[in-house]
Amino acid sequence: MAQPARQTISYLTRRFQEVGLNPNKRHGQNFLIDLNLIKLLAKSAKLTENDVVLEIGTGMGSLTGLIAKQAAAVVTVEIDAHLFQMASEELEEFDNIEMLHQDVLKNKNTFDSRVIETVKKHLAVDENRVLKLCANLPYNIATPILTNLLLSEIVPVSMTVTIQKELADRIMGAPGSKDYGALSILMQSLCDCEIVRIMSPKVFWPRPKVESAIIHIVHRPDKLARIPDLNFFHAFVRAMFFHRRKFMRSVAISAFKGQLTKPQVDEVLEGLHLGADARTEQLPIERIQEMCENFRRQLIKVTGEEKPMLANQSG
Ligand code: SAM
Repeated sequence: MAQPARQTISYLTRRFQEVGLNPNKRHGQNFLIDLNLIKLLAKSAKLTENDVVLEIGTGMGSLTGLIAKQAAAVVTVEIDAHLFQMASEELEEFDNIEMLHQDVLKNKNTFDSRVIETVKKHLAVDENRVLKLCANLPYNIATPILTNLLLSEIVPVSMTVTIQKELADRIMGAPGSKDYGALSILMQSLCDCEIVRIMSPKVFWPRPKVESAIIHIVHRPDKLARIPDLNFFHAFVRAMFFHRRKFMRSVAISAFKGQLTKPQVDEVLEGLHLGADARTEQLPIERIQEMCENFRRQLIKVTGEEKPMLANQSG
């Protein structure tokens, strides 16, 4: 089987010159030019022949070709028409790659349905197949890609991706640190997360301004089982971190405005022994999960709704 050409600076500049283009910043087009790191990214995904791999950002197809050799099927998505065309030429000899030319997101909170349906089609081929995400992600949409996938109907068993180091730090954030926030809590509540490698800007062309990281995220269904209503939990955590500097009580009062009265909010916080000076960012994840569940139950009690929603969703 033919190999996709080796992705070096000279190769990339030549191909871009041929079509008279420059990499598009808006689409996060920073190509990984260190072959060892492309290999490390693929290796860290621990692919097997039962895997359907979703790649977001085909680029010139260098990672795509590598993962296609290790997996049952690859669904790869590219927004840029020129890159889609060039990668199609590079990858034409692979019969287990399905390329989609489109925006992977329908909007910030939703994956495009064609992507979901294509992945489902490949998963349905064999009951042993599982989904893994492996990609050098476009950095500007890395957060919605990771969170939307975890909340989607095609939750991957793992996600191994290159992202901004600053984002990797936020995913790994510990209670009380500046990185600890809604993203850390969502990711760590559902997954085991590990930074595999920090990467300097010089391993990309063009060079980004920031450091990057390969992160390996393994979904944990047993952790998910501890969260009775994932959508509510996601909305709650985002709301509780919307005003980082405020005390938890005032954030909760505004998050539940129109749904819970101040005494009803206080009742929940007192039940958790959280005083007036408590801040969400100091609490470990288990306590935040407990707080979320107690607020959810309070809402069920007050509104009589079985599946209450947070009225004031932020972010
Ligand atoms: N996989 C290549 C590599 O490793 O060198 C390219 C990675 S580059 C960081 C990100 C790629 O995602 C670019 O090719 C870009 O055009 C594509 N992209 C950006 N936004 C996208 C979107 N919304 N949907 C699909 N692809 C997107």
